[in-house]
Amino acid sequence: MKIVAIVAAGGRGERLGAGLPKQLLLLGGRTILQRSIDAFVSSSRVDEIVVVVTPEVAADPPPYLRSRTKPITVVAGGIRRQDSVAIGFEATRDDVDLVVVHDAARPFVSAALIERMIDAGLEAGAAIPALRARDTVKEVAGPDDTARVVTRTLARETVVLVQTPQAFRPQVLREAIRLGRAGVDVTDEASLAERAGHRVRVVEGDPRNIKVTTPEDLEMAKAIVELTEGVHGPASTRIGAGYDIHRLVAGRPLVLGGVVIPFPLGLEGHSDADALCHAITDAVLGAAGAGDIGQLFPDTDARWKGASSLELLGRAVTLVQSNGFRVGNVDAVVIAEQPRLAPFVGEITSKLAAALEVPAGHVSVKGKTHEGLGEIGRGEAIAAHAVALLRTV
Ligand code: MG
Repeated sequence: MKIVAIVAAGGRGERLGAGLPKQLLLLGGRTILQRSIDAFVSSSRVDEIVVVVTPEVAADPPPYLRSRTKPITVVAGGIRRQDSVAIGFEATRDDVDLVVVHDAARPFVSAALIERMIDAGLEAGAAIPALRARDTVKEVAGPDDTARVVTRTLARETVVLVQTPQAFRPQVLREAIRLGRAGVDVTDEASLAERAGHRVRVVEGDPRNIKVTTPEDLEMAKAIVELTEGVHGPASTRIGAGYDIHRLVAGRPLVLGGVVIPFPLGLEGHSDADALCHAITDAVLGAAGAGDIGQLFPDTDARWKGASSLELLGRAVTLVQSNGFRVGNVDAVVIAEQPRLAPFVGEITSKLAAALEVPAGHVSVKGKTHEGLGEIGRGEAIAAHAVALLRTV
């Protein structure tokens, strides 16, 4: 038994407006295409995958299309979707028992759905996943969206909404493709199989198996990722901790969270010695696994002498962003016997929020005394603790 999956990702659909084909947009740390490929790579029933991509992607395939646990063939697609599937089918060998055709724009295809389609395809020769229509279904006519009228109301129970993956015996798909070459334009292979006279079995689809086409779909897809992976998935949410302490000395300004606070003493250090910014920077870098402030901005480097630590925090944020993260929120505690921090907290949080590129409500700074205990309690130093939550984008 040999089963091949053809993943159609040759479209240039840029309706999502990101300037990239939609299948190359990131969704929770993986591209939409990668999520689709991963589903077939992890299916124990699928032996090989043929991915049909744009010529640009085919010329330089990303790593997830190269080294995998099963063979992946990358080919450049055609103009219409059906041309791409035909090209993908040509890339399969003769000894194939079943071909499963999937739209890369459906990144949430589940292992269970793939199994169902394979079983039904083997049994019936052609099978499609579909959902019942829950809304009332009407046939309409008219020149465009603004001038259409209802021509009739369809019986809802006779209508289904069709998804992929669609499964075909190779001889069925071969005939369908031949029809497509003859000039019939369709949006799925099953339409061609029907026209070629084959019975196509309808199998229960999956409501989560949405097609990501519009910006609203992308929002929905992000919500699904957040719901299913956001809370529990270590790959999509990361936490980091940071701590710092600096000695209070005469003759230096006291800078905390980028704000100069009137006080007779200031913190001693190579930069402006802003212990709060340093703790937050370490929390942000730590969450991304991107090292720490000492590695990034060593105090042996003259560039950082007297540097604004708020600016260094901004650089750290840019770095983690380039690694695919965004800051979610930050919570910090400043431990200082004096001065009282409360009057400056608003200004501090708004400066930090700007550097972290988050809304002000996503930054919290709390002042604490050390109850007169130890060096901080004696007013010899100020310390800060911080935690930062990052999300993959
Ligand atoms: Mg420091």
